[in-house]
Order: sequence, then structure tokens, then C-alpha cells
Amino acid sequence: MNRRKEEGRPGPARSCPICGRPALHRYRPFCSKRCADVDLARWLGGRYAIPAMEEAPDFEAGENDRPRPERRSS
Ligand SMILES: [Zn+2]
Repeated sequence: MNRRKEEGRPGPARSCPICGRPALHRYRPFCSKRCADVDLARWLGGRYAIPAMEEAPDFEAGENDRPRPERRSS
């Protein structure tokens, strides 16, 4: 069986359209989630807008609207 793996294939990585750094596979075509968020904000707002939050581990778009119940395992 032949498996084609794109990983490990040496090639010019696409650069992040936001900041120009090499894009990460995980966030492509962006280099980071931050840049992806920036692009998304541009899309939604139709203007250049950078999300205010810098480090928000729990932040997830869409889930922030409703109050989330605390999860407790009792
Ligand atoms: Zn970037």
C-alpha cells in the first residue's frame, strides 16, 4: 500500500496572510490561532479588527453567549 503523506514533505510553507510568518499546519493558512482570529474578525466585521483578548484559554467562539453551568463531578 502506498500512503501519501504531506507531512514531512519538504516544501515552501505558505506564509500567514496576516503576519507573513510560515503557517502552521494546525492553523493553516495561518501561523497561529491569533492570526486566524484576526482574519475571522476581519471577515465578520468587514474591517481590520484585532480581538482584544490576548490570552483567553477558556474562550470559545459561540459558547460565550450563554452562561455555562459549572461542571462538577460529584
Ligand atoms: Zn500570522
